[in-house]
Amino acid sequence: MNADLHCHSVVSDGTLTPEALAARAAANGVELWSLTDHDEVGGQHRAAAAARLHGLRYLTGTEISVTFADETVHIVGLGFDPDDPLLIAGLAATRGGRAARAREIADSLARAGIPGAYEGALRYAGNPDLISRTHFARFLVEAGVCTDTHEVFRRFLTEGKPGFVPHRWARLGDAVRWIAEAGGVAVIAHPARYRFSASGEYALFLEFKAHGGAAVEVTTGSHSPDEREKYAAMALEFGLAASRGSDFHSPDESHCDLGALPLLPGGLTPVWELLTHRIQ
Ligand code: AMP
Ligand code: MN
Ligand code: MN
Ligand code: MN
Repeated sequence: MNADLHCHSVVSDGTLTPEALAARAAANGVELWSLTDHDEVGGQHRAAAAARLHGLRYLTGTEISVTFADETVHIVGLGFDPDDPLLIAGLAATRGGRAARAREIADSLARAGIPGAYEGALRYAGNPDLISRTHFARFLVEAGVCTDTHEVFRRFLTEGKPGFVPHRWARLGDAVRWIAEAGGVAVIAHPARYRFSASGEYALFLEFKAHGGAAVEVTTGSHSPDEREKYAAMALEFGLAASRGSDFHSPDESHCDLGALPLLPGGLTPVWELLTHRIQ
């Protein structure tokens, strides 16, 4: 099945509206779609309505920023009730630190000789509650400091570089519980992107599972074929279902378009089999 269960709209750090994403997903042959904005469910009703219009099956989604063992980890939630009060409060608390962090990022960039970054980044934020490093990256390209956002993340905004501000996000157990108690399934997003040792990664999977997490992204825009194989084996080892999602943000920035991914490897339980009753 061509399921794409990870992408971003202007409600977080994507450049397309939920409606434009639904149209693009349908045009690309996606059969089951989810919009997973960072720390936000503000686009869910729009996305579900747009999916219906295009005859796309839909699962609600979000991508929660978590701090685990001093590392930022992303947990995707799928198929939850988007009006669940505990989930909504948890996401609001997770978003809460972003404004002050953005000021600090701008101060750090100003010290590196780049003024006006707060106002500059804010102009790119479709949702002023969700100012992210991606918006700073777009401003740095606009200002002519870098030629594209990939260069930005090599030279700025990441550990040891100007514009990096350490931040404490939600706790792993809290994020998994918010999703599960709202009727959804928690998924470890793009596991190959974290910098854990083998034992650190093992601890992440063990704790995630212990808290009630049930799936891992095996096929995602940033995984190589070897990484897909590795996380397919980890899914089996830990008894986790497998998810598939492009992590599409923008036609100008994303290497992997909506739905343009290899199918899930055989022998795994697709995450949507755990969520048949939640598909709209
Ligand atoms: P934030 O949640 O504000 O820390 O922003 C993180 C976002 O930056 C991610 O969701 C990606 O969209 C974007 N990003 C792109 N490339 C990188 C990279 N190399 N490192 C970290 N973030 C990146
Ligand atoms: Mn992002
Ligand atoms: Mn992510
Ligand atoms: Mn993402």
